[in-house]
Amino acid sequence: MGKLNFMGGFKKSALEESFQKEKWPSVRFRLLFLYFVTVITYFAGGYSDYVDLGLGSEFHTVLLGRICACLLGCLAFFLLLVDKVRLRMQYMLMSLCMFSVLGAESLELVVKSSDIGSLSVPTAVFIVLAYYILLSPRILPPFVAAVSGSVVYLLSLATVVPIHSGTFVNSLIYLFLANMFGVFFLYTFGRSLRREYAAMEDLKKLVEFDELTGVCSRRKVLEAGDCLFKSARRFNSKLAVLMMDIDHFKKVNDDHGHCVGDTVLKKTARRCADVLREVDYFGRLGGEEFVIILPHSSLHDGIKVAERLRLRIKERMFNVDDACLPVSVSIGVAELKGHDDFKALLQDADEQLYRAKNGGRNKVCPAIFRVVKQIQSTEAYVE
Ligand code: GH3
Ligand code: MG
Ligand code: MG
Repeated sequence: MGKLNFMGGFKKSALEESFQKEKWPSVRFRLLFLYFVTVITYFAGGYSDYVDLGLGSEFHTVLLGRICACLLGCLAFFLLLVDKVRLRMQYMLMSLCMFSVLGAESLELVVKSSDIGSLSVPTAVFIVLAYYILLSPRILPPFVAAVSGSVVYLLSLATVVPIHSGTFVNSLIYLFLANMFGVFFLYTFGRSLRREYAAMEDLKKLVEFDELTGVCSRRKVLEAGDCLFKSARRFNSKLAVLMMDIDHFKKVNDDHGHCVGDTVLKKTARRCADVLREVDYFGRLGGEEFVIILPHSSLHDGIKVAERLRLRIKERMFNVDDACLPVSVSIGVAELKGHDDFKALLQDADEQLYRAKNGGRNKVCPAIFRVVKQIQSTEAYVE
């Protein structure tokens, strides 16, 4: 997992997308800051044009360039603030803003040609670097905008100074360095961010999924159970829980070895997963014991699912290596009925599992006793 391509992005597009989505809030914050500062300072820079050019047509031309760049910045800022536009569109807008600022700089350069010197270049260099540094971890949009903006800037410079003058060559070197450092920073920083993200994803997987069977881990299924229990109680909906245990599993290990035992566990989990709905939670509590949580399901639904699971396991032998193993499971079923918490509901299902084991195994036992007990105690109270 987490292999990177030559651009420094994840090879798996789904992983890249989820990475970009996770990083978006911080990128968005930096972009908002960048637009805000750029618009304010860039517009305020009009004062220096006024001092340099006075109130003539040249000043108006430069001011028009500034206004266009600032309007685009304002539009991008508000779209970002609302955050309803797709990420791809936001990055395109960002590139456009960066290009427009560099374009306006170029316009200023041409209009103020009599005053130009190497001092006009640092602004463009600064803009290029700021966008590169603040916009990680996406490399292509700032790169395209910065390089094309730099080219436009250099072409504008070439129209006002001889192409071989020191000013032009210096500017070319500055912009080249700014783009090189910017891209290198984005590339290396992006790679380390992605490595960190991939490691976190691996860790999350280890915590949330059982390594052997691929079903939910104990922690994840118990967490989900807690959550579903609270929600079912709050919205008065039904919730069924199944506790399932493979019968005489120790004998499989003893007779055929631990590796075969592991394969039986994996195959059992796979067969069960086929029977369950997408909304059901299926987790391994430990050893050969599994828990299944069925949201919006009654005891009756739970019994039906448990019976389907039992038959699914029993219907065909398990072919593991050269062995052909008959495997069966016992299942206890309980429904949410005045239990204090999810642990109590699980305990109820576990008690039924014990009944199924004591009743001869390869059985489904529902928790009707508790209901009967409750009815009996209520009746006793009424009497
Ligand atoms: P019962 O029908 O009463 O459930 O009997 P059982 O043999 O299935 O139950 P018991 O609790 O006596 O044995 C469970 C066995 O499961 C013992 C343990 O070695 C084995 N086991 C637990 N975890 C794993 C595992 O990850 N892989 C393998 N291969 N075996 C495991
Ligand atoms: Mg067992
Ligand atoms: Mg067991």
